[in-house]
Amino acid sequence: MSFDNPSFLSFPRLRFERPTVAIVGGGASGVLTAVQLLRRRSPVRVVLVEERPRLGRGVAYGTTCDSHLLNVPAAGMGAFPDEPGHFLHWARGRRPEAHGGSFLPRRLYGEYLEWCLEEEIAAARRRTPFTAIQGRVTALASGPGGAALRLAGGETLWASQVVLAMGHSAGAAEAWSASAPRGPIRDAWQPDAIAGLPPGRPVVLIGTGLTAVDVMLSLEEAGFDGPIHAVSRRGLFPQPHLPVASPAAAPVSVPPPSALPGRGATPERARELVAAIRAEIRLAVALGGDWRTVVDGLRPRTQALWAALPEAERARLHRHALRYWEVHRHRMAPEVAGRIERLRRSGRLQVTAGHVLSVTATSGGAAVTVRPRGARAAGTASHPTELTLEGGAVIRCTGPREHLDSVGDPLLDGLFAGGDARPGGLGLGLAVDEDGRLLDRAGEPSDTLWALGPLRRGALLETTAIPEIREQAAALARILPEAAVAVEVGYALEEAL
Ligand SMILES: Cc1cc2nc3c(=O)[nH]c(=O)nc-3n(C[C@H](O)[C@H](O)[C@H](O)COP(=O)(O)OP(=O)(O)OC[C@H]3O[C@@H](n4cnc5c(N)ncnc54)[C@H](O)[C@@H]3O)c2cc1C
Repeated sequence: MSFDNPSFLSFPRLRFERPTVAIVGGGASGVLTAVQLLRRRSPVRVVLVEERPRLGRGVAYGTTCDSHLLNVPAAGMGAFPDEPGHFLHWARGRRPEAHGGSFLPRRLYGEYLEWCLEEEIAAARRRTPFTAIQGRVTALASGPGGAALRLAGGETLWASQVVLAMGHSAGAAEAWSASAPRGPIRDAWQPDAIAGLPPGRPVVLIGTGLTAVDVMLSLEEAGFDGPIHAVSRRGLFPQPHLPVASPAAAPVSVPPPSALPGRGATPERARELVAAIRAEIRLAVALGGDWRTVVDGLRPRTQALWAALPEAERARLHRHALRYWEVHRHRMAPEVAGRIERLRRSGRLQVTAGHVLSVTATSGGAAVTVRPRGARAAGTASHPTELTLEGGAVIRCTGPREHLDSVGDPLLDGLFAGGDARPGGLGLGLAVDEDGRLLDRAGEPSDTLWALGPLRRGALLETTAIPEIREQAAALARILPEAAVAVEVGYALEEAL
């Protein structure tokens, strides 16, 4: 779909118009929020601002590689909380062989999100006017009843309510990245991450999560046949989903909830929570079940379990157990897992568990120095204190940045500096109340600024997948029109930018 000209919305044209809800970010979170506002025929104007050339793509669904599959079966990926099968129905129109258990390409899901938006725009017509603007919001000033947004091109937009849907921030926060030479280090989320690799040289991936898996698949698609070194602290890959062989066997609904929450009080210590989950898994396996049922069954309860832990216990869980939880919770499609396993068995993929100490440029590319996990101070020939992985290129696959106050994004920096926002619990994401209103420096909920999706990570922990985002988008669309009143936004706001 096409974008509109930002000057169309610039001051003072919108000043006395109907309330405007501006959404910053047109990935899955921003598009689903717009879709919900349109679907409800909300009496507002919706303005969606996205930097990328296409809506509904963002980090996850902007891929053009057909090997990058959804990590949730098609039956669970519908855009609407009350129609989880909506995506499957749409996808069958394009891929008749798709069934509820299919892991379809993420590229297809990006198309679906854009299609949902177009459908709702057409259905809502003038009842909920919609405008899409391509641009980057670099500053925001909010005051009673409204906000002014500054675009990178210099234009100013006015809105009664602003939804922040900026999602994932790229880039590494690790110590090695500060001193690393920029040249040989590539970012997995950049479109040219694997372009022009030196032939015959190994590639070193920093990270072994879903982002690294994506890169391995892309390398294969591109015909890369050299060695791949992957290094991460624990060397853990995401676990595989169980294959769903036939449509009849497809898990079309969420697995039954775990018995865990029903047993006694909600754990208030990280250790107790981990022990309870382990006990539940042992029980499930003893009864002939699978650990995945327990992990998936916990999903509706994860946010409440996280919220029930005191801050220090959340920090403990985050530090020691989160990575283990994530590799079990965010799994690979079975066929993707099969491809990674084949790479490992062939010897082309070598995995190192360890701490990256430095990345240095070499004549042939780069060298990554690693302290292997469990290395002792003295070291031995079989267990050295340090080892070096040489490659023609190093690709950073460390996933999203968790601490938004160090990302270097001018919009976020301005919000923090001005006291309109503060980091969420454990410094993750943005601090929000239970409806998604930003909490300011003093902890007061905003009248104007909202956030959803990965930005709510500090409050909710599990808030990045579509089943969570679609709930948040639907809830926001219920609240926002009531909160958005048409007011005259003062000139003072523009001066504050
Ligand atoms: C690789 C990957 C695979 C995933 N696979 C699945 C899956 O299979 N199933 C599932 O349920 N979930 C999956 N997820 C999780 C989830 O669906 C995504 O995290 C989702 O993309 C989050 O959407 P978002 O819009 O919040 O963030 P993003 O996708 O990061 O989109 C944010 C958008 O905001 C724009 N933006 C940012 N700042 C500005 C600004 N200042 N001005 C204008 N625009 C801005 C960006 O350009 C971007 O398009 C996956 C996530 C990743 C990273």
